[in-house]
Amino acid sequence: MGADTTTTASNVLVLLGPPGAGKGTQARLLEEQLGLVQLSTGDLLRAAVRDGTAAGLAADKVMKAGDLVSDAIVMEILEERLEQSDVARGVILDGFPRTSAQAEALDALLARHGMSVGAAVALTVDDNAMVERVSGRATCAICGEGYHDQFKPPAKPDTCDVCDGGPLTRRADDNAQTVIARLQAYHAQTAPLIDHFENRGVLRRVDAMGPIPEIAGSLGNVVKALNS
Ligand code: ADP
Ligand code: ZN
Repeated sequence: MGADTTTTASNVLVLLGPPGAGKGTQARLLEEQLGLVQLSTGDLLRAAVRDGTAAGLAADKVMKAGDLVSDAIVMEILEERLEQSDVARGVILDGFPRTSAQAEALDALLARHGMSVGAAVALTVDDNAMVERVSGRATCAICGEGYHDQFKPPAKPDTCDVCDGGPLTRRADDNAQTVIARLQAYHAQTAPLIDHFENRGVLRRVDAMGPIPEIAGSLGNVVKALNS
């Protein structure tokens, strides 16, 4: 896959929504259903922070403050990820694009890899519920399964059910104060992208306030309808 690709497939799904909307949870469920690969710029940035790369060092403070990492850094880590062969069958973009500059750059970036956006789904939620959702969440350090103190607790405290024994970790930015800053960044910089995708005729909205499997069902139907 490279600049010489002549045909492009509409095999990119964009998930939009504020922190806590469930983008990551739903992306993981959709991966299997649609045969696509989840690509989270948040996960890629956290990996860069852990690895201590130059991008990671620059991103760390910004993420802890709940602000957006620079477009240049995000574009660079995303481009690198798209060069790996497993993404050729298509991707679910979770947490990208997040600014209008990123949305502008997206088409060219995808075209270089023979891809284009087939659908963008905005997960609609009640902002007031997001602080609680985000503050209570935890993730398995081994398999990545997500949990929530209140909505999806593991059978044994701080232990993953799926891989039986994986320790649960919490993100440094998942505290009430940082969530408020992240929600502000979302409304100022990312929410306007809903119009961008609406103007291109690929936007759908899904109510994301219900139970996780119910939302997964609506999301699956919406995406199937768009592709048929
Ligand atoms: P959430 O959507 O729950 O806030 P993410 O894991 O998507 O969680 O993002 C965590 C943080 O990573 C963001 O607050 C921001 O600092 C940074 N980040 C992730 N994706 C982007 C992006 N596309 N552009 C700029 N910053 C990003
Ligand atoms: Zn696990």
